[in-house]
Amino acid sequence: MNRLMRFSPFPSSRPSMVGRRLRLAGAGLIAAAVFVIDTFTPLSSAVAVLYVLVLLLVGEELPGRRLWTVTLACAAMATISFAVAHGEDVELAPTLRLMVSLAALGVAAFLTDRNLAAREILQAQARLLDVTSDAIFIRDAQGRITFWNRGAERLYGWSRQEAVGQDAHRLLATALPAPSEDIAAHVARHGAWQGEVTQRRKDGATLVVLSEWILERDAETGAHALLESNTDISDLRRADEALRRSEARYRTIFNTLAVSIWEHDFRPVRAALDALRAQGVGDLADHLARHPEVARAIKAQVGITDVNATALKMMGVADKAGFFQRLDELLPETDDSFSQFLIAFDSGAPRFETETTVRSRTGEMIPVMVALNFPPDAQGLDRVQASIVDLTEQRRMQERLDRARAELEHALRAATLGVLSASIAHEVNQPLAAISNAAGAAQRWLDRETPDLDEAKEAVADVVHAAAHAAEVVRGIRGLIAQTPADRAALPVDELLTASAGFVRREIAEHGVELVLDQQAADTVVQGDRVVLQQALVNLMLNGVQAMAACPAEGRRLHVRARRDGDEAVIEIADTGPGFPPDAADRAFEAFFTTKPGGMGLGLAICQSAVAAHDGRIAVLPSAPGETGARIEIRLPARSR
Ligand code: ADP
Repeated sequence: MNRLMRFSPFPSSRPSMVGRRLRLAGAGLIAAAVFVIDTFTPLSSAVAVLYVLVLLLVGEELPGRRLWTVTLACAAMATISFAVAHGEDVELAPTLRLMVSLAALGVAAFLTDRNLAAREILQAQARLLDVTSDAIFIRDAQGRITFWNRGAERLYGWSRQEAVGQDAHRLLATALPAPSEDIAAHVARHGAWQGEVTQRRKDGATLVVLSEWILERDAETGAHALLESNTDISDLRRADEALRRSEARYRTIFNTLAVSIWEHDFRPVRAALDALRAQGVGDLADHLARHPEVARAIKAQVGITDVNATALKMMGVADKAGFFQRLDELLPETDDSFSQFLIAFDSGAPRFETETTVRSRTGEMIPVMVALNFPPDAQGLDRVQASIVDLTEQRRMQERLDRARAELEHALRAATLGVLSASIAHEVNQPLAAISNAAGAAQRWLDRETPDLDEAKEAVADVVHAAAHAAEVVRGIRGLIAQTPADRAALPVDELLTASAGFVRREIAEHGVELVLDQQAADTVVQGDRVVLQQALVNLMLNGVQAMAACPAEGRRLHVRARRDGDEAVIEIADTGPGFPPDAADRAFEAFFTTKPGGMGLGLAICQSAVAAHDGRIAVLPSAPGETGARIEIRLPARSR
């Protein structure tokens, strides 16, 4: 390649067709003239030497055999001229002149031939330079471009005509990786230089090229030139840069993630599983269950190759160098998640997830959740990342939640007990009041000057009746708590109503309320607990009586009506009181909802559960037209007697 330095841009060295023809014609004329002069003039000089002019003129146009053919022709013509001029009279001087001429011809032919061969080689090399995809140019000692190959045209965009003669590095805005004097000194010392440089294309785009410089000194002139061969590595650098950025991004994520990550080398696992298969192990799960030492041995071969900062913190390790080297150092002996991992890995599952425990540097057992994706092929097995989430806090939270739930249940039980006691008190209150009233009445009949024993007896009978009712109430409440009525019997609706009204007889009388019993369900029977249903009706009637206490005495009327509606018994209890306070109708059935100063807010709640326990419904109805009072309706499944 160094020889290239000696040729100037080769295309211009090719002669044009016209010039070639002229030279051939000239050579022919010279040959003819020399032949005529040599043959027919009595010049006793070496005219035949002039045949050399023919070779000098066209020799380079006649490669190979043709050169020698022309040379032989010239030699033959010289010999013929000699024969014609001298005949058989061979003298020494003319013969020597002929010999000199022939020798001169031979030497000229030989030199021309060698020159032609050398030029052929140079041209072949130059063509080679043109076909290479690299950009190659030659710059002289002043830095001017003397040769510019096709690769350079393609890479930089300037044609050969545009580039030749220009200052190479000014044209290409070359940015060198070191001071140009240092590079020049290196080239002078070593004859070559190689490095990465940035250059500019004709369209202004920036290129990164790998540049190779070779210094060539001309032995004769001492001048030197540089051959530069440049390979475009812009794409490579861009790809490198993209890769570097993506790696940096991945590293940032890896190191800053709040989840622990550690990287494993699973290649030994693959090898061990393959070995097991080769030994004929078919059912891996079964094999591992019967030989736990196998999983342990494989686990001991799994190396941990990298970890992130969160993992170091979680495991109580100061730096990466001090982290566990092998998986079995941090997984406890008893851990069987590794066997599950092996089975998943062996089955070709894409992902594995498990909960296990790891042992930190301080010996603390940390509950963790492990998740990893298996690489799609064996290529990535040397660096498989698993993300590990510390479940300690979650477990603590769960424990706290469980504790809170237990406390809440306890509180609920206590509250239920409170409600229960309150409801017992509420329900028993009425019979107790009745007992107290009746006992007081009995006392007064007996305290008279002439005790009225009959009245006293009747009052005492009321006491007994009310006490019996109290006992039944308690039993009924017990049944209600169990959510099932204590007793189930066929209960005629009209009897239920009469009995319930009987229990509130005294309150009705005391409050001067008119009771209207409207029995229209004579043959209707409901199935249920008599006491529970009676108590519900008693509650509703008492509510009505109490509500009317604020109304003028003359208008107080309690309307209790029973009727049949299809397969339901409908009992309606209406009063002429002020009706439900605003919004109270919606909330009236809630436990502890009350608008009364001393109220417990349980009456309607108990009624609702009593009715619900009998598969019935209870609702507040809008007031009757022209009335303000409350209307409550109970619907119970019914049949005919
Ligand atoms: P308490 O009677 O202890 O207040 P209840 O559950 O029996 O508890 O009643 C809840 C509320 O419903 C009462 O405080 C009252 O505001 C309203 N209420 C119930 N019955 C009537 C009625 N007949 N007329 C008007 N308001 C009523």
